[in-house]
Amino acid sequence: MLNRVIYAGYMEHEPWGITRRKGHHEPLISLETYETIQTRRNSKGVAAKRPDISEDFPLRGAIVCACCDKPMTACFARSATGKRYPYFNCQTRDCSEYRKSIRAEKIDAGFEAILRSLKPSKQILDIATSMLKDAWDQRGDQAKQAKAEIKRQHNELDKQQDALVERMVETSNPKVMTALENKIAKLDDEKLLLTDKLSQNTKPKSTLSEIIELLQNYLANPWNVYENGSLEVRKTIQKTAFSAPLTYDRKNGYRTPQVSVIFDFFEKITSKCEMVRSRRLELPRVLPHSDLNAARLPIPPRPHVIR
Ligand SMILES: [Zn+2]
Repeated sequence: MLNRVIYAGYMEHEPWGITRRKGHHEPLISLETYETIQTRRNSKGVAAKRPDISEDFPLRGAIVCACCDKPMTACFARSATGKRYPYFNCQTRDCSEYRKSIRAEKIDAGFEAILRSLKPSKQILDIATSMLKDAWDQRGDQAKQAKAEIKRQHNELDKQQDALVERMVETSNPKVMTALENKIAKLDDEKLLLTDKLSQNTKPKSTLSEIIELLQNYLANPWNVYENGSLEVRKTIQKTAFSAPLTYDRKNGYRTPQVSVIFDFFEKITSKCEMVRSRRLELPRVLPHSDLNAARLPIPPRPHVIR
């Protein structure tokens, strides 16, 4: 199925000299997707997805050994009474942690602590939301520009085709005519690709407010979403919250995780706000008596005012 252009809404049949043209049926995929599939099919194979991700070990594949940096293996051990215990271990033969077991509950608890610590404050989340709104508007403008660019390219191809047709009229050499015909057909294919791109629904599938709601639910409390989510949701969170697999050390627990861009941004902006705030507290050298007492009060963990 993947090698037939008919599924992209087009028809062609080389043996009969039928060049690619738009059919009268509903396409299942876009022409661009079809072309991408063909390129993939003609290139080297892509690594298969791991089929063995089990519900018992949501963190399987997401944790690497601190000693050798290789993914840890998850499995069950059986006690003398026959009870099953889930655990992780390193299966790298030359690693000093080879086959030294870590209880899965320890790894799970550590992960929970990390995910809970990613919870940003309400103010920071509000800043991120307004930035998202700006980015959304910008994206809309870019989409408009992209459409105009496609139209321009299409016009350009039209001009090239016109020029080729003119040359065809002028020549009587059959070889040149065939070459020109082939060029014109190739330009037709390129034009179809552009027209298909234009006809694709470029409108986002969700509205801005839906995305904001989804983001705020997730970003405001990733642990909550993780805890109540399916295995698929959990895997997605592992991938979106961290930019690299989490490293676990049997004796010292998790190393500082590499959080993804968005959480890294939250951390940076939070610490910047705190810096600004503590500088404000330091600024007045001479304080009236009442303010002096106020300044001695413990600093709350989150900034009150963000400007
Ligand atoms: Zn190891």
